[in-house]
Amino acid sequence: MANRNPNQKPQNDNKPKFSIIALILLVIVLTFFGNQIMRLFTSSRQEQVTYDRFLSAASGDRIQSAEIGTDQIAYTLREDVDNDRKMIYYTTRLPNVDLTGVVDTMQANGVEFTGVQAEDDTFSFLFSWVIFPILLFLIFSLIMRMVANRAGGGGGLGGIGNIGKSKAKMYMEKETGVTFRDVAGQDEAKESLVEIIDFLHNPKKYTAIGAKLPKGALLVGSPGTGKTLLAKAVAGEAHVPFFSISGSDFVEMFVGVGASRVRDLFQEASKVAPAIIFIDEIDAIGRSRDSKFGGNDEREQTLNQLLAEIDGFDSSKGVVILAATNRPEVLDKALLRAGRFDRRIVVDRPNLEGRYQTLLVHTRNIRLAEDVDLRKLAQATAGAVGADLANLVNEAALRAVRMGRQAVNQQDLLVSFETVIAGTEKKGTVLTDMEKRIVAYHEVGHALVAALRKHSQPVSKITIVPHTSGALGYTMQMPEEEKYLNSKEELLIQLQTLLGGRAAEQTVFGIQTTGAANDIQRATELARRMVTQFGMSDKVGLMALAATQSEYLDGQAYMDCAQTTAATADDEVRALLNTCYEDAKQLLRDNRSLLDEIALYLLQKETITGDELMAYVNADSHRLPASETEEAQ
Ligand code: ADP
Ligand code: ZN
Repeated sequence: MANRNPNQKPQNDNKPKFSIIALILLVIVLTFFGNQIMRLFTSSRQEQVTYDRFLSAASGDRIQSAEIGTDQIAYTLREDVDNDRKMIYYTTRLPNVDLTGVVDTMQANGVEFTGVQAEDDTFSFLFSWVIFPILLFLIFSLIMRMVANRAGGGGGLGGIGNIGKSKAKMYMEKETGVTFRDVAGQDEAKESLVEIIDFLHNPKKYTAIGAKLPKGALLVGSPGTGKTLLAKAVAGEAHVPFFSISGSDFVEMFVGVGASRVRDLFQEASKVAPAIIFIDEIDAIGRSRDSKFGGNDEREQTLNQLLAEIDGFDSSKGVVILAATNRPEVLDKALLRAGRFDRRIVVDRPNLEGRYQTLLVHTRNIRLAEDVDLRKLAQATAGAVGADLANLVNEAALRAVRMGRQAVNQQDLLVSFETVIAGTEKKGTVLTDMEKRIVAYHEVGHALVAALRKHSQPVSKITIVPHTSGALGYTMQMPEEEKYLNSKEELLIQLQTLLGGRAAEQTVFGIQTTGAANDIQRATELARRMVTQFGMSDKVGLMALAATQSEYLDGQAYMDCAQTTAATADDEVRALLNTCYEDAKQLLRDNRSLLDEIALYLLQKETITGDELMAYVNADSHRLPASETEEAQ
């Protein structure tokens, strides 16, 4: 039987089903070979003999008893009975041979004999036409389910005749019960989501004016920063059902199943609209179709179905799709086009205040000892995300129980932080104190050079909270007003600003770190364009050494000049960078106390706004009017 199903492999994860199959096999074996097995267990031995031996035994009056069936004759011998041996002989009956003669002889000899009803025949008829097909069907459906489980990761096809209809993976909550109160920090993200909530509350208010709301928003952020939580909170605040599905579920599925699941998902959601559809890890399906990793038919089909559904549904009904990813750069451009996920909401790692709030949320139902200082804990956990903090609090509670205490104390929390962070690969995002100081000075270096040179607020935000993109800290530039012309002086200030980070590291700590790699790259590109394209170097003059290949290829340029000229250009680029670097260092040395003050403030708060930065700079310039003259040189 097992040979009929070569693709049926032992499934460790399907033990109950596997035992069902074993049971079925047992039934089959028993029905097929039951007679023989029964004979094995009866105390009498048996022997298959030839028909002529039966005939000679019958004519020689050696038979004690006989059973004559339609196919088989079984008999015992007098000599065995006399010798106390229990032997049964059986032979196959010859077809179409009349047994009358033999029967007469046996009767004459006083043999006990009887005919055996052909009940075996009805049974085998039943078996081959009724039982066997049923068994076959059962086994087949079990195998189908197993294969589907393996492909769908447990979703199952819901039995035969229901292929692709499974909703096991799609998960729906009528009322999530999560509100914005449960999401700590993330104020910017919440702000962007408020409008969506309002829309879900009252779609008519928007459609009456003719406003079209975005169909979807993309939540971008590292794992554990609370993207799922935010999506649930949106559903909870708006009191609408929450449908969720994860992109990674579509990987390794049968071709076509993913697409039909997407279709189901949208169907179900629009039936109960207004509703939220949440697609976690959308990069698993939405990865760029022309990526170098080769195509994947299933993913492509699923993605196309998703695009079709997004375009197809009527947003006035109030279905809003939220999708989460931590790798927005790999997403297919088609997903980001207008009318699809054109809104991007950044869910960053929490800063000091955010971490404190998160700890508050998660200790709401925890009994804390007197000595617990959540602010201190927040300070110690720079770089940790919300999920880490939730995990930390729980670990601490477990530890307190292990220690037989009635409440969680500070020690529990601090020790748990070590285990939570050490146990994961997140070490890179938690900076040591020294690293934090270097990053703070580096970022303030950029910002301060820009502020002092431009006499205006250069940045909107400075942070030393590691960013999703991998940067340890960053300085968010002010949105520049549209500018088509830049003077050489402005470009020089840009160069100094770019090099200001390294300048601060060097000035304050006397070290050079890898953190400046990106700055140096960008500064070099800019300086090279100034020399080879903008005619801003005296040695090279007005000659264009590089030509832009195509307007459309990101303005990439290739060198178009003699090698000696190219070498001169290189020298000029280096000289330009060096001058700007020295200028930046000098500027920071002249304003060292200001640099220290701001860096210290940033270290404390982890994120400061451009306004706060300018408050320091302006206060300083009033104190030291002399610095005006320095800047002018
Ligand atoms: P993501 O979807 O970004 O990977 P989740 O939303 O699944 O992260 O977060 C996992 C858990 O971490 C949440 O269930 C919650 O307990 C906790 N968490 C994350 N961010 C926050 C936050 N901002 N406030 C409160 N808890 C948070
Ligand atoms: Zn930098």
